[in-house]
Amino acid sequence: MEKFDTIISACLLGIPCRYNHKGECNKKALDEYLKGKSIAVCPEIISGQKTPRPACEIVGGDGFGVLNGQAKVLDKTGNDYSKQFIRGAEIILNEIAKKHSIKKAILKSNSPSCGCGTIYSGKFNGKKVKGHGVLSALLKENGINDIKEL
Ligand code: SF4
Repeated sequence: MEKFDTIISACLLGIPCRYNHKGECNKKALDEYLKGKSIAVCPEIISGQKTPRPACEIVGGDGFGVLNGQAKVLDKTGNDYSKQFIRGAEIILNEIAKKHSIKKAILKSNSPSCGCGTIYSGKFNGKKVKGHGVLSALLKENGINDIKEL
């Protein structure tokens, strides 16, 4: 089996998996991917969500709070997507990261899934706050701490 050591948010490679059916190609992420040791992942798509889909933010905390039930992933009208976001993060952790002994992640900033250090505030006002998305939190809870946010 090929030896992978890193997961990369798929949208950073230009794959149009964001809520608005766009990607956002990032040169640093692409250079890393082209080394051949990375797997592109999108926890929201792997959970069964589609593009385009409603933009979501974490309300009441960050990804750690979502995982322990104290915060929620909501869209602007209050629909609760927490279960889908947790499910997507768990698939990435269990079916990809653990199976490939992944050590590192390069993840998209500000996302309620992938954000690692900053996420949107939960007030849908464009402001950002310190915090982690659901995937970043789950990876950290499972010992994958080498996460770069791009
Ligand atoms: Fe998917 Fe993460 Fe990119 Fe959002 S930030 S589109 S969850 S890879």
